[in-house]
Amino acid sequence: MSLLAEDTAVADLGLRWKLGFPTLGPAFLTELRPTPLPDPYWVGHSEAAARMLGLPADWRQSDSTLSALTGNLPVAGTQPFATVYSGHQFGVWAGQLGDGRAIMLGETEGGLEVQLKGAGRTPYSRGADGRAVLRSSIREFLCSEAMHGLGIPTTRALCVTGSDARVYREVPETAAVVTRVAPSFIRFGHFEHFAANQRDAELRALADYVIDRHYPACRTTGRFNGNAYAAFLEAVSERTAALLAQWQAVGFCHGVMNTDNMSILGLTIDYGPFQFLDGFDPRHICNHSDASGRYAFNQQPNVAYWNLFCLAQALLPLIGDQEIAVAALESYKTVFPSEFEGRMRAKLGLADAAEGDRALIEGVLKLLVAEKVDYTIFWRRLSQHMADGNAEPVGDLFLDRAGFDAWLLSFSQRHAQAPRSDAADSMFKSNPKYVLRNHLGQQAIEAASQKDFSAVATLLALLETPFEEHPGADAYAGFPPDWATTIEISCSS
Ligand code: AMP
Ligand code: MG
Repeated sequence: MSLLAEDTAVADLGLRWKLGFPTLGPAFLTELRPTPLPDPYWVGHSEAAARMLGLPADWRQSDSTLSALTGNLPVAGTQPFATVYSGHQFGVWAGQLGDGRAIMLGETEGGLEVQLKGAGRTPYSRGADGRAVLRSSIREFLCSEAMHGLGIPTTRALCVTGSDARVYREVPETAAVVTRVAPSFIRFGHFEHFAANQRDAELRALADYVIDRHYPACRTTGRFNGNAYAAFLEAVSERTAALLAQWQAVGFCHGVMNTDNMSILGLTIDYGPFQFLDGFDPRHICNHSDASGRYAFNQQPNVAYWNLFCLAQALLPLIGDQEIAVAALESYKTVFPSEFEGRMRAKLGLADAAEGDRALIEGVLKLLVAEKVDYTIFWRRLSQHMADGNAEPVGDLFLDRAGFDAWLLSFSQRHAQAPRSDAADSMFKSNPKYVLRNHLGQQAIEAASQKDFSAVATLLALLETPFEEHPGADAYAGFPPDWATTIEISCSS
């Protein structure tokens, strides 16, 4: 192939693109090209994400797609770019950050942004290499699709491609690229960036852009005397509250809830040292770099509120009145507890609310924490108990059997009026059998680093439909092995 032909070669993914974020103007982004990686290979892919994007059925057949999604070949119709944002990291203002290794290809006509994470340096890399390692890319890919399978709002992942190119972290590793998909990757930090730099015109343009596309009702609701920016803050607070309720109910610990890792759409975003709880320990810290436990599991709802407060401060020049801004945040304090209670009620198979439900929820969580009972297994066994009436498997999880039996009695009494089979059905749909436990991810990563990608695919298939039984896959739904507690996941990725 001649040099000229190579230079003009493009991959056609079969998608139609439109100009989205770049319409905001050059203050918000830098156009650039991904940096190629040698000899890419497929590591994992999600057909569900491909369908959502509208890719043709044979999308993976062409080498040019593999190249393009590794950043080695331009995608027809796109003009890639990286965006600028700032943020608070671990409670401290960190100044300018930005897409240091994520490069946006563009937005499809269907309104989905497609981004390559790990595709090379950008003006926002701050001295880092712009790469992502295979292990963290597999974790992000699997967890994105797992969260979607659980019904939890999240950015999606189309695929992971790998390369044997070396990437240096604590030890030498290899590079990978995750193709992420979301209606928007805008973070709280994007707003903080323009507010901190007193660039009110850009701040307003960004808010208008997000409101018009994602929160149009804020323009017409009568809330806050027609102050659309206050209504926007309230809507973001509510979505964030609903998201946190889902995290807490399923036992998900994000690990790095910095304001630059908070989605303006209330999506789970930026999977780093996350963890699904094994034994129920509310004080669990999943990020090895988080010595103080700022992002411990039970801190998450408060941290989200703290982050929303940062967003409120950033939006203050637009809202124009501190009291209104504070009022717009208020809804978090009612939406989070009511959403959380609703989610927990669903886990208990309760279709409606009744007095005493909160005590029932608090009672069971107290029992779980006292003995660090495996969170996912407990709820699944309780669901099974509702279906077959056998209390043994769930009771066996407790040393304090009397304590559990007492709780189970009040639980059964609460269910006395409604058919148990209905409750069991809904419990099976609220209590997953499969979650992406650290050790499962670890096993898939170890196989993948030996070029065996079958475990990634197997795990994905279970996690896409985590509420189903999947006969023969019980090994993926069991207790974690002893070595699981020795896995250390830090911010290094
Ligand atoms: P995180 O908390 O991991 O989402 O990342 C915080 C900031 O560091 C973001 O601006 C990232 O884009 C940037 N970053 C993280 N790792 C890298 C890397 N290897 N190269 C360039 N930028 C990075
Ligand atoms: Mg981030």
